[in-house]
Amino acid sequence: MRIDTTVDGHVHTKYCKHATGEMEEYVQVAVAKGLAGIIFLEHLESGISYFESTWLSEADFDRYFKEGLRLREKYAGQLTVGLGVEVGFNPERVAEIKAFLARHTWDRVGLSCHFLETSGDHLNLVSRRKRNWAPLGEMGMDQVVAVYFQRLRQAVEELPGTVVCHLDAVLRHHPDIRFSAENRLLALAVLDAMAKRNMALEVNTSGFLHRGEPYPDRFFIDEAVQRSIRLVPGSDAHQPRDVGRYFDRLAAWP
Ligand SMILES: [Zn+2]
Ligand SMILES: [Zn+2]
Repeated sequence: MRIDTTVDGHVHTKYCKHATGEMEEYVQVAVAKGLAGIIFLEHLESGISYFESTWLSEADFDRYFKEGLRLREKYAGQLTVGLGVEVGFNPERVAEIKAFLARHTWDRVGLSCHFLETSGDHLNLVSRRKRNWAPLGEMGMDQVVAVYFQRLRQAVEELPGTVVCHLDAVLRHHPDIRFSAENRLLALAVLDAMAKRNMALEVNTSGFLHRGEPYPDRFFIDEAVQRSIRLVPGSDAHQPRDVGRYFDRLAAWP
């Protein structure tokens, strides 16, 4: 696969409260694995009502920048340290998200869509937890997937993103997940919008762990390449040892 595997462009930290390890430990693993760079891509969510917070507060982001800039200087000459954000799209909060993004200088702005509103709380679309699946199943899987791709396209069109993260993550852990022909077209519309705005597509190596090949599905990667969309790799590490995971396999991926 034509992809630069010297930089891991999607790494989390303890600040999101569902990853572990100091930022410096992630950097040290990247150095040990011989990477030329690492880009932290921490979770931002706006206006989400969920039973736990799996993203950073504004104060967390201040700490994140402080430590990240310290590490950038300390490890200069060994590798580059990028500071980015994985933005969870919420169509109700576009202005708020844009205002927040404008307050910092980001090395990468990844776009994702993790949550879908219901009559009560938000449901996590990419969760392994079954508590999210039953209500989503009631909405109808095809409908949930359709809304997911429409949201992602809206995020591409309305936010200053540079990369789309895990394009086909919706209901990834659900045993019955499948994409209808209509929903594949909606996904291709996301790629069209990305091509227009010169946005890259993330190839996420966590897929090797879950299903023996990277995310997203090869079909989408091929469609991205046809549109001259740049591919960038990310481990989605939530613990230091996962930095650069399976990058050797990705480099050798046909
Ligand atoms: Zn996460
Ligand atoms: Zn992530």
